[in-house]
Amino acid sequence: MSAIAVDTPRPNRPVHYRPCGDEVAVFEAAADNRLPVLIKGPTGCGKTRFVEYMAERLGRDVHTVACHDDLTAADLVGRHLIGAHGTYWQDGPLTRAVREGGICYLDEIIEARKDTTVVLHPLADDRRILPLDATGERLEAHPDFLLVVSYNPGYRNLMKGLKPSTRQRFVALAFDYPSAAVETEIVAEEARLDRDTAAQLVGLAGALRRLDQHDLEESASTRLLIHAGRLISRGVNPLTACEACLAQPLTDDAVTLEALMDVVRAHLGE
Ligand code: ADP
Repeated sequence: MSAIAVDTPRPNRPVHYRPCGDEVAVFEAAADNRLPVLIKGPTGCGKTRFVEYMAERLGRDVHTVACHDDLTAADLVGRHLIGAHGTYWQDGPLTRAVREGGICYLDEIIEARKDTTVVLHPLADDRRILPLDATGERLEAHPDFLLVVSYNPGYRNLMKGLKPSTRQRFVALAFDYPSAAVETEIVAEEARLDRDTAAQLVGLAGALRRLDQHDLEESASTRLLIHAGRLISRGVNPLTACEACLAQPLTDDAVTLEALMDVVRAHLGE
């Protein structure tokens, strides 16, 4: 099976999530009405954390699938396997969530082939059913089943898009990097960093995000800021931490790297 499905264990301590708008109320209303949710936004802006937080609030398990272009419908739905006693059916992560209830979270759904995402259609409208051709079953989704998908609509993905017939079924939430004040709180809390240093990192991220580098596929995300903050709070020199976490992960191109590091140096006053 090529899907990387993860049943996210319920964490021991509460999931920390700082809301940035009405997303909690919208998600709860969608879940109450059994409407599937689509979350779009750049990598590392808090989409997955939000889903984990909402799962905890709603008391549901999360079955996460990291989508990729080899993902087949069978990876989601399940397949027959051969065991010691002959063939047997094994549910995929989608089918498990449909039977048992819980959130099935398809991360980066845009990476999956369109013929794979078509299996979601009867689940994502009023029917809420999953026909299993291989077993002849026609599963009605558990009342607590909720389909959640996310993707990054960055320029690399513009051509891929999501089929209009797929996207029209979802309640869509647009995520972006949090405001500077909120992002400073998040970085300080997640990296256990003092507020002034967190604010400096967030200011630097703002400058990096404004850079008009078209060969950069992604920008300095909240996740990368937290990584830099964690290194700094462990005593790593800020310039080194920013190169390791905010510049090197974003590019392999020497000229682009130098442009990023110019911004970093100017911002840190080095
Ligand atoms: P995405 O799924 O969008 O790629 P994640 O949800 O993995 O991004 O976010 C990356 C990290 O950023 C999280 O692990 C968390 O530490 C932090 N983060 C982002 N947004 C928030 C938020 N609103 N509240 C708390 N932490 C956040």
